Amino acid sequence: MDLGIKGKRGLVTASSKGLGLGCARALAEAGVDLVMNARGAEALETAAQAIRDDFGVAVTAVACDVTTPEGQAQVLEAAGDIDILVTNAGGPPPGMWSDWDREDFIAALDANMLTPIALMKACLPGMMDRGWGRVVNITSQSVKSPIAVLGLSNAARAGLTGYVAGTARQVAPSGVTINNLLPGIHDTDRAAALDGGVSRQQNISVDEARSQREATIPARRYGTAAEFGAACAFLCSQHAGFIVGQNLLLDGGAVNLSL
Ligand code: NAP
Repeated sequence: MDLGIKGKRGLVTASSKGLGLGCARALAEAGVDLVMNARGAEALETAAQAIRDDFGVAVTAVACDVTTPEGQAQVLEAAGDIDILVTNAGGPPPGMWSDWDREDFIAALDANMLTPIALMKACLPGMMDRGWGRVVNITSQSVKSPIAVLGLSNAARAGLTGYVAGTARQVAPSGVTINNLLPGIHDTDRAAALDGGVSRQQNISVDEARSQREATIPARRYGTAAEFGAACAFLCSQHAGFIVGQNLLLDGGAVNLSL
């Protein structure tokens, strides 16, 4: 399917690895010129060069921490007038409800709520002026089914989801869509780190921890960054203009909701 976005410009934050990289690669395959970002410059440049080589699009790599105001200013300056924004950042650490203080919540809110909001506030006016735009926020299945050990993530992502629900309806008249993609467990470094946590907690091997977690998913496997990216690229396509303010689960059926 031709996604109809060849020649558009997109910014994908936190995109040297994992789900962000999956989104960047799928957009590049559809012909989108990209600004990519991560903190680690080496892995970022390697990922950016692979995309240039594989898809022939222009890629600008901006190495910075996107959760800081300085980092946001850097990526936004490189991005300029973009048509597509995919927001992503690392997820907060797991723990117990009693572990977290005000500073931990502020850090989680900064990374997973206030950063995507700041990026949207900066990019939406230009998209609305030009009459076309696509925003996809990478959130989590925890939005629909909160995960006990991820209280910081649950809290921050619930806030972002509420903000998007209103904002998506306010910008839709200008031809701009905002949707959230909710990953279940995907085969990335983040998933491996969480496997490691289960392994230590239950004193089992990492392979056993993974098998245990795979057994909770009706598809009986972890998702891949490539299939996640393909869904993101579709939401950014010309065909998705009537999909507004949705929270789309990509979780192999793990969250059982009738509606
Ligand atoms: P990942 O494999 O660990 O990749 C994270 C990417 O983000 C890397 O490129 C990393 O590069 C970059 N990054 C992290 N913090 C950053 C920051 N402050 N500024 C700029 N770049 C940053 O993670 P993932 O599995 O793709 O997860 C992506 C998001 O989806 C996370 O918020 C995660 O909580 C959420 N999620 C993931 C899963 C899953 O199963 N994978 C499930 C539910 C939700 P640097 O470290 O070099 O900065």
